[in-house]
Amino acid sequence: TIREHVTMIGLGPMGQAMAAAFLDKGHPVTVWNRTASRAQPLVEAGATLAASPTDAIAAAKLIVLSLTDYDAMYAILGDHTAALAGRTVVNLSSDTPQRSREAAEWFAGHGARFVCGGVMVPAPLIGAEEAYVFYSGPSEAVDEHRDVLSVIGRVDYRGEDPGLAQLWYQSQLDVFLTMLSSFLHSAAMLATAGVSAAEAAPYATETLRLAADIIDMSVPAVDADDHADVGASTAMMGASADHILGASRELGIDTTLPEAVKTHYDRAIAAGHGASGWTSLYRTILRPPA
Ligand code: NDP
Repeated sequence: TIREHVTMIGLGPMGQAMAAAFLDKGHPVTVWNRTASRAQPLVEAGATLAASPTDAIAAAKLIVLSLTDYDAMYAILGDHTAALAGRTVVNLSSDTPQRSREAAEWFAGHGARFVCGGVMVPAPLIGAEEAYVFYSGPSEAVDEHRDVLSVIGRVDYRGEDPGLAQLWYQSQLDVFLTMLSSFLHSAAMLATAGVSAAEAAPYATETLRLAADIIDMSVPAVDADDHADVGASTAMMGASADHILGASRELGIDTTLPEAVKTHYDRAIAAGHGASGWTSLYRTILRPPA
């Protein structure tokens, strides 16, 4: 395999794990972080700590960023743009698709190629078999650095539009965060009856498996935007949504999440989709009423 020098800027849990993975695979690594002390374990593992962002950028053709958001990127690179020409910057920080598109233009203005990425696993799973990363931007830049980027996880390239990686990333975090909140809400429901999370969790896991099957079954209706034949009607599912909200109120727990779900059903029913399958919610989610 080709050993490629990588510069890693941003040493939170993710950046540290990525830099360690590069080193582990024999790639020379230069690091920079606002709080320099966070580089210490990596330096002990063989990384070079750059004295400034300019030095860090100068050290390698490939610059990988792992920061809280895109504002942090501008805060770090804003005074060091002269060093960027000819570099490929891969930003694995989370933000919106539009922020990614703006960044691509900003880097182009400084003579650098910009690749946007979204890492789909937490820090302990960097480099593990299930790890993958959404990328978007210039395909030749991704191809050129594919070997070293593959150290983080499988390269899942989504297209030239720089916004696509964050669009895909946020679409999956949407499923993930909503699912995690729904588990905590359901655990709180049962906690009011003295049930532990340990007892509740296997049931939640089973329900998630069922939900995964139902996602697969609902795909044709969603893609065709034709909701006649899904089985469970919008009106029936909407009544269930109302019961979850009613139960939450009775129990005195937070009602934010069941209110949001019930709003989806209410809108679809108000739009005349009560007798259609529950996937009819998709229409008012995609095109919400003004
Ligand atoms: P953080 O989101 O906490 O990012 C920390 C890094 O950003 C540190 O290097 C920090 O520097 C730097 N930083 C933040 N603000 C500034 C600023 N204004 N100027 C300079 N540096 C700044 O850590 P993570 O490693 O957890 O996450 C990195 C990115 O990866 C995030 O966008 C996150 O959403 C994403 N991600 C995280 C996952 C996770 O499980 N943690 C999973 C998948 C993606 P300093 O050390 O000096 O504070």
